[in-house]
Amino acid sequence: MNYVSTRNRAHSTDAQGAILRGTAPDGGLFTMDILPVFWQDDIQTVCTMTYPQAAAYILKKYLPGYPERDLENFCRQAYSTFASEDVAPLKKVEGNIYSLELFHGKTCAFKDVALQLLPYLLVYAAKNAGGVNETVILTATSGDTGKAALEAFSDIEGTSIGVFYPHGGVSDVQRRQMTTQQGGNVQVFAIEGNFDDAQSGVKAIFADKELRERFMEQGIALSSANSINWGRLAPQIVYYFWAYTRLLNSGELRMGEKMDVCVPTGNFGNILAAFIAKKSGLPIERIICASNANNVLTDFFNSGVYDRRRELLRTESPSMDILLSSNLERLLYMLGGDELTAYLMAQLKESGRFEAPADLRKKLLDASFSAFCANDEDAKNQIRETWENSGYLLDTHTAVAFCAAKKAGTDRRPMVVAATASPFKFAPAVLDALTGEKAPDGEQSLRRLEELTGIKAPKQLLELFSRQERFNEVIPKDQMAHFAEKWILKK
Ligand SMILES: *Cc1c(COP(=O)(O)O)cnc(C)c1O
Repeated sequence: MNYVSTRNRAHSTDAQGAILRGTAPDGGLFTMDILPVFWQDDIQTVCTMTYPQAAAYILKKYLPGYPERDLENFCRQAYSTFASEDVAPLKKVEGNIYSLELFHGKTCAFKDVALQLLPYLLVYAAKNAGGVNETVILTATSGDTGKAALEAFSDIEGTSIGVFYPHGGVSDVQRRQMTTQQGGNVQVFAIEGNFDDAQSGVKAIFADKELRERFMEQGIALSSANSINWGRLAPQIVYYFWAYTRLLNSGELRMGEKMDVCVPTGNFGNILAAFIAKKSGLPIERIICASNANNVLTDFFNSGVYDRRRELLRTESPSMDILLSSNLERLLYMLGGDELTAYLMAQLKESGRFEAPADLRKKLLDASFSAFCANDEDAKNQIRETWENSGYLLDTHTAVAFCAAKKAGTDRRPMVVAATASPFKFAPAVLDALTGEKAPDGEQSLRRLEELTGIKAPKQLLELFSRQERFNEVIPKDQMAHFAEKWILKK
């Protein structure tokens, strides 16, 4: 039993259990209790591997209980869907700054790296658990997760996937990505409400015991593709090893020398993966948390107070518009233990804030975290500056991280910035940053950005505009359970 609840170590399970169940019964997050260690020899081995090989080699230590041969197959299949053979190419942008391009998957955002693999891990676990004929994934999305999950589970035997998004609350590209999704086992609902409504609606379905029993009678289990699932976290650890070994291969670092990383952060999943890599022995010096104007985490790292009692701002980096960074709970557990985590999480629930005690604050700093934020204006200036000076095109999320990296300083060692989305996914904002043009969201802005930069837009984004939108139903937010049940039992 390698995985324990962040709120009570007595709740434990194995890797497959953690992936199947998503969250622990006490509301905590299953977290690997004792992290594996990678020695220099292991890191040297990764230097010679392809990405799928490296992924299987690293993941077998974070997912004990999955046979190595199966992991190798899963990784090979999952990562064959990426446009770049490297899966996550590391590009030198300027000075010590490198861009780790995580957006070459089907949906052009970094969530593909984990979500393309998740169905294999989940279906394997469900088969072993027995008694389940079908696993239904339900996900609320503010844009990127929904599409990445749809693309990952589409036509995967033994699964179906339903996604709820806020009607009018996602970009034109994001909506089309979801409503044009192919596959016999997919369903997309727009709800009259915002992302929080969608999220609470899905949570209510999960909490509805009677509904779940009706599903269970038919051998149907519910599961989630949310980023608090260990099965989404583990595959993200891999690319930090990948980045380090690419720096070794190119001679920019020698074994044991350190790199910094900087991650545009929302739910704290991607950056936590970097911390786990560091704890497992990867030579990382600083871990820089980049936030947009929703800078709850910047305040937390700088003051020790986490305070979500503020208005959620809509920004040009919508995938980071979040006030409750769920995976931070895992960091609290790793540094402070289960009792303290349970206490702080209860505080957060009751009063919307918590304060890290002095010794936890010290540990956060010892763990080399620092945090910086950038607003839309800063990010747009950064997009223009990086394009003009280096001929490298940033998306709005990655631009926030570039701003943070610069504030943190990059003269001492290589700074690897996680590039989380293709600039074409947020073309209107990127165009505006480059030229001040207010192009409408849609095909025109993609074409215009191609023309302006000479860079080709990913074809799966261009194709969206000639595809039929399959799903156009808008449902009331208090009827989500009803519509979900109708869809799930009819299939
Ligand atoms: C989801 C997302 C993020 C935030 O990642 P977390 O793991 O939630 O911190 C950043 N950028 C993009 C483009 C995303 O889709």
